[in-house]
Amino acid sequence: MADPKERFEVIVRKLRDNGHKITPQRLAIVGILARSEGHPSVEDIHDEVKKDFPTMSLATVYRNIILIKSIGEVLELGFPDGSNRYDGNKPSPHPHVICVKCKKIVDPDLDSLDELKNEVAQATNFKILNHRVDFFGICSACLAKE
Ligand code: ZN
Ligand code: MN
Repeated sequence: MADPKERFEVIVRKLRDNGHKITPQRLAIVGILARSEGHPSVEDIHDEVKKDFPTMSLATVYRNIILIKSIGEVLELGFPDGSNRYDGNKPSPHPHVICVKCKKIVDPDLDSLDELKNEVAQATNFKILNHRVDFFGICSACLAKE
């Protein structure tokens, strides 16, 4: 996991460099994203930010996440059911492991993906720009309940 404090500073600096206003509400959302190890949904982020800003709407949270996504500082994980989860701690493409029961999402520690990317490029003659690798399974906590 990247240092949340460092991530916070990087995102704020980039927002500022792109001419976006830095409001306390915006900073609160950036803070949650910077330490978003658990890959929260917009609703999760809204629930957390409401503790400090009880009147902030879900739409405002969503708009801010879209803004931070537009400057490349949050990774959006979309799913076929229309739900989205966010990783602002590690915004560059990386594989995820997803529990099909409790929807927990974790970042596995892997070195083999760069190798896979090169292999795919070589096999297809594509210049690979991006990738999306998800592993679906049942987490140890859910397994223990079975
Ligand atoms: Zn689980
Ligand atoms: Mn992640």
